[in-house]
Amino acid sequence: MYPRHGCFNVYQYNSVGVLKNSPISAYSKIDRFQRIKNIAMRSAVYRAVSPWYSGMGSILMFHRVCPEELKSAIKGNSVLEITPQYLERIVLYFRKKGYRFLPLDEVPDALNGRLRGRHKFVVFTFDDGYRDNYLYAYPLLKKYHVPFTVYVTTSFPDQTAVPWWFMLDDLISKSDRICFIRDGEEFDLDCSSPYRKEETFYTIRQRILSAAGGSLDSLFRNLFEPHGIRLGDKMRDLALSWDQIVEMARDPLVTIGSHTRNHTALNRLGMRDLVREIVEPREALEARIGLKVRHFCYPFGSKYEAGPREFNAVREVGFRTATTTRLSNLFAGHRRHLLALPRIWVDGNVEDTRDLDLLVTGFMPLLLNRFKRVVAD
Ligand SMILES: [Zn+2]
Repeated sequence: MYPRHGCFNVYQYNSVGVLKNSPISAYSKIDRFQRIKNIAMRSAVYRAVSPWYSGMGSILMFHRVCPEELKSAIKGNSVLEITPQYLERIVLYFRKKGYRFLPLDEVPDALNGRLRGRHKFVVFTFDDGYRDNYLYAYPLLKKYHVPFTVYVTTSFPDQTAVPWWFMLDDLISKSDRICFIRDGEEFDLDCSSPYRKEETFYTIRQRILSAAGGSLDSLFRNLFEPHGIRLGDKMRDLALSWDQIVEMARDPLVTIGSHTRNHTALNRLGMRDLVREIVEPREALEARIGLKVRHFCYPFGSKYEAGPREFNAVREVGFRTATTTRLSNLFAGHRRHLLALPRIWVDGNVEDTRDLDLLVTGFMPLLLNRFKRVVAD
């Protein structure tokens, strides 16, 4: 089964109203969101909310870490990619602010006030299992002794996933025009400018999302194979290998968490498949690394893909924590919601710690969550 779409995607920023309609309306909404951020960034007034909204700490959400020249051309993908230089600036940003770098396993104790000292804490998490986490993030975080978690989708190291969102990026980047036939309908899409490339990405993405099973196979073949892009190749470049996962798991600095097998939106599954997606990949991970896997991350993770039924299923299986993509810092009240912990998204399209500051102080979360502090449901 293929992931329904690229992991956590700019078009999926439901909380800022994106996803619907055309790329034009999507971009105008992102622009509006960006305008508020730009105005706030120009003055430091937004920091006034920090005592109420920065909380006890934050869990940061990352995906890929790769050099600038390897970043995707399409913004919907490059939002998931930060450079190693920016990752280093983020570490220094939190160090300067006096945050304590915490492994995920200590978050329940931190929320229960059982840790010594009154420092705020920050937790680094990386979703999906990209090879660049091992190549670029791991050495850098080791240098600064920063603990971190990698949430592995097991179809990545198993090489059975098809990361079509990056393959589509490759195809669009190198093409001025893409033609293909789908269900008798002929598509002739313009990719001659950056805007047209984004638009074409969005159009094909919609086609992929509405396809399923065997029809998705034939769509991928029609789309990619004439251009010499083979389905298995990209995953080999992108995914962590089992050896790399095992090596990192042996380091006390690294926690391996589970992110299902197929990266499916869990609320679209029947109960049997839901339990299978939660239980089996965890067993597979534990068998490989020889350690208990106590932490889970919901694919996509917004309220449109994970809710009370999924939280309960994860609780039944005995995970210690689980993270969503709801956007918020952590407050004492989150100790009652350890299986629905919100995170702070690190935006690869805006590599500026002032942008991060707007999130960590709680300014953007309070606007998006309408002043609600404990975001969990
Ligand atoms: Zn993911």
